[in-house]
Amino acid sequence: MTLDLKSAIRTIPDYPKPGIMFRDITTLLGNARAFRRAIDELVQPWAGTKIDKVAGMEARGFILGGAVAHQLSAGFVPIRKKGKLPHTTVSIAYSLEYGLDEMEMHDDAVEAGERVILVDDLIATGGTATGAVGLLKKIGADVVAACFVIDLPELGGAKKIEALGVPVRTLISFE
Ligand code: IMP
Repeated sequence: MTLDLKSAIRTIPDYPKPGIMFRDITTLLGNARAFRRAIDELVQPWAGTKIDKVAGMEARGFILGGAVAHQLSAGFVPIRKKGKLPHTTVSIAYSLEYGLDEMEMHDDAVEAGERVILVDDLIATGGTATGAVGLLKKIGADVVAACFVIDLPELGGAKKIEALGVPVRTLISFE
């Protein structure tokens, strides 16, 4: 039987606040077949091509991005919230639902011109991914694509990232 990735994701109504339908990928991660399928599908367009680094956003992007990097024989670069990385960093402000925050990466994590794929669990408004793409471009990376398990197309994030010239790959969408 074909495995339905969507059914491996749990939806939690009213989390973290009333009115939000939270898409919880921990059930997908805990399902060996679904986890493998998701990683295989994220990797598939770049199998056999040269990808130098995979960048993952804190925290679920670390889990998915680490597995994607392993499959592509690429290095992994963590993008973290401000103040978490021990060496010298580059940082960028990005917009959250309410207000601004800052994300950082080590300034020597990617060399200029390296081909990088960005990975996270979900794209909603695209604020987080816009920040991450900006950070990677700031240090001269060639951002080849941004990949997400889940798209919330009504929030327009994927279109925002494509408008920056970065192709987006998503596996599942929730209206
Ligand atoms: P955006 O910046 O509005 O695109 O929101 C995407 C970021 O928020 C990603 O880092 C996601 O991990 C997180 N996020 C937003 N909504 C959800 C959800 O329903 N489930 C899991 N993560 C979410």
